[in-house]
Formats: sequence, C-alpha cells, structure tokens
Amino acid sequence: MKYDIKLKNETDIKHLRESGKLLARALKATAEEVKPGVTTKYLNDFFHDFVVKGGGEPAFLNYQPFGADYPYPGAICISVNDEVVHGIGGDYVLKEGDIIGLDGGVKLKGLITDSAITVPVGKVSDEDAELLRVTQEAMMAGIRAAICGNYVNDISKAIEKAIPKKYGIVKILSGHGVGYKVHEEPYVPNFDDGVKGPKLVPGLVLAIEPMVNLGTDEVVLTNDGYTFVTEDGKKSAHFEHTILITEDKPEIITIQ
Ligand code: MG
Ligand code: MG
Repeated sequence: MKYDIKLKNETDIKHLRESGKLLARALKATAEEVKPGVTTKYLNDFFHDFVVKGGGEPAFLNYQPFGADYPYPGAICISVNDEVVHGIGGDYVLKEGDIIGLDGGVKLKGLITDSAITVPVGKVSDEDAELLRVTQEAMMAGIRAAICGNYVNDISKAIEKAIPKKYGIVKILSGHGVGYKVHEEPYVPNFDDGVKGPKLVPGLVLAIEPMVNLGTDEVVLTNDGYTFVTEDGKKSAHFEHTILITEDKPEIITIQ
C-alpha cells in the first residue's frame, strides 16, 4: 500500500505551532461561552471572530469535503448531545445537562491545525461526565502511542484499548493527516482495522480524534449533509488534537 504523505519541514512546523496555539486559545475562549441559554450560532460567530482577530482563518468555513453537495457553512463544527460531529451552529439554545462538541480548524500562514473538545453545559449526569473523560483519555492514549517507529495501527489499537467495551466507537469516521489541507493521508482509525498503515516518522502531522457513543457505534448522516448523529439517539463525545511525530515523544500542536 502506497500512502500520499506530505511531511512538514522546519518552517511549516513553526507555522503549525502558531496555528495550533491560536486554535487552542480560540477553543478555550469559545468553551468559556458555553452556558444554558446560549445559541450554537452565537458560539460559531464567537469562534469566527476570535480566530480572525488572532490573524487566522477558520479553516472549515467554506471547506467542501469530497462528496459534499455544498461547502461547509460554519466557522466551527458544533455537535450537541446525539450529534457526533460536523454539526452546524444555528438557533438551537443550549440547556443544562447538554454536552456540546466544539471542533475547530485554523489556517495561519498557510498551515492548518484541527482540534476538538466536548464540554458540559452546566451540570451533566455522571454517565455523560464519564463519557467525556473516557473519550479524552482515549485520545491521550492514542497520542502516547504516536511514537516514531510505530505504525498508524499502533495508535488505533491504543485508542480502542482505552475505551471500555460498553461504549460504541464510531468506525466510519477517523483521524487523519493535516497541515497543508484539512484532510490529508494517512487516515487514523479509532479501532484496530487490521491494517498496519504507514510508519510514523518525524515531520508527520496527524489529527487524533476518537468519537465515542454511549450506545451503538452506528451513526447516520442527517439531511443537512454534514451532521452525523447516533443511530439510537444516545449521546456522543469527541476530542481531538493535532500532533507532530518527532524523534522523541509526539508534540501536541494544538495547545496554548
Ligand atoms: Mg476536527
Ligand atoms: Mg479532524
């Protein structure tokens, strides 16, 4: 299997770090705006303005993925409760007990970073709080396995191993290479798909992003052509960091 992998050079990495820092700040600031009574459109616009003021561009705005009928209309993907990923901010009003996924991209000096968090709206149930904790920890387990000399499949296995069997791991969506484009090769499944994948080498930049459901792993694409929801209507969480493979431990790029 041949992979179309575009390794990043020193200058790219410098710019990626700037892009990632801005994204981390924007996501944190947007998460601080999350509270009951706020619309998802407000959060979308808040993120947009924060990124633009910081000298970047929201990388997902007008991005047209392969197979999509129209470009993505939001500045950030906002996915509430049973929405898994790629939700679009609108007039939905957040309420106590919701969980909300914020998945942002920033383009700065030509380099794109991608990161997501899922945050509670006010007080959430213990079950939902545990879902968030498990999903974030699965992402970190994947990152810890992203060691130079390992293979993509080692990341996938580490993520799967970190998620207790009672949860559903979304299989039709995955992590990916990132940097020059929003999505680059290789794809990084969140479970062991039996494919070794490419070797991890310095300069490889990956978005690691488990999506974990309280119920079934099956997801459905809704009528807007972007938003995925869980088939059984149960809640879903998503965490994501952009990381750089180095000679040593992986470097998290989307951090302040
Ligand atoms: Mg993302
Ligand atoms: Mg991504």
